[in-house]
Amino acid sequence: MNDNKDFNENTEDERNFSFELPHSSPVSPTRLELDDELKFRCHRGVSCWNQCCSRADVTLAPYDIIRMKDALGVDTTEFLKEHTVPFELDMHGVPGLKLRTDDSGACLFMKEEGCSVYENRPTACRYYPSGLLSMKSISEASDERHFLLIKEDHCKGHDEEQIQTIGEYRKAQGVEKYDDLNLEWYQIILKKKSTGPTIGKPSDMSLQMFFMASYDMDRFRRFVMSDAFIKMYDLTDDEYAKFETDDIALMKFGFQLMKQVFFGELTIKEREGAWEKRVEERKEILEFRKQAEITEHQRKTDEARSASLDDKE
Ligand code: SF4
Ligand code: SF4
Repeated sequence: MNDNKDFNENTEDERNFSFELPHSSPVSPTRLELDDELKFRCHRGVSCWNQCCSRADVTLAPYDIIRMKDALGVDTTEFLKEHTVPFELDMHGVPGLKLRTDDSGACLFMKEEGCSVYENRPTACRYYPSGLLSMKSISEASDERHFLLIKEDHCKGHDEEQIQTIGEYRKAQGVEKYDDLNLEWYQIILKKKSTGPTIGKPSDMSLQMFFMASYDMDRFRRFVMSDAFIKMYDLTDDEYAKFETDDIALMKFGFQLMKQVFFGELTIKEREGAWEKRVEERKEILEFRKQAEITEHQRKTDEARSASLDDKE
């Protein structure tokens, strides 16, 4: 390990706009770079076997969910219901998800012999005892990627003799593919955090869209294949055919849609006149609702009046 910077030395800017993907821990993490060394090995013979999973606090990213629901053979809606709990990623209520645990805090996938979804375990589990730290400072236009090291007393893997760089550890844990596929999503969250005060709190509808496109791919697919969506966005038949069967393509499309919804970037072409038509349709709906409310109000007033006349008689 070389002269690592203590995480707590980060400037206020950096800490404001960082996104972490570790197991949460009371231990203060150390910041690492790709070439820094990590002395660590986890194997079935360690005295602390399964202790990390007995107190699991695992934040999930979109590709984690696709991998796990495929491994379990369920759709995303069922996976979310059975295996996750919600939390908020920022002060504006951007929705996040964690793996569900039992009452003692143990991950539901933990078995005596180890992780029952090991081949498809989430990014945070792959990284442990390191973690991903994406950061964006006010002065930098692009985001940076650093890593964390969390040295918890119960984890005896640090007493093992194996030494590798963080880069080698990521490779061995198969985390690179996960990071590559989730990267754009991390960037959206960082941008949302760093521009938060400017763009303000997203509408409830935007937050729901973020949730659906980030985590509930099967529901998002139905939304994208709906008549209203097809009328609004100018996509090719090939694109729709791909979204119908390919979760990764749909997930990446969701990232583009989030940028449009959150930041107003024109990432997806709208059909000519679609916006104006929607505003018109919306006007008609609002007018219809207004008329219905007036009629209902009139009906209630008439009812009250005739009840009061009956009382007087
Ligand atoms: S998914 Fe597997 S590795 Fe991750 S906390 Fe659960 S049991 Fe442990
Ligand atoms: S060595 Fe660390 S990561 Fe491995 S089982 Fe023990 S606590 Fe978990």
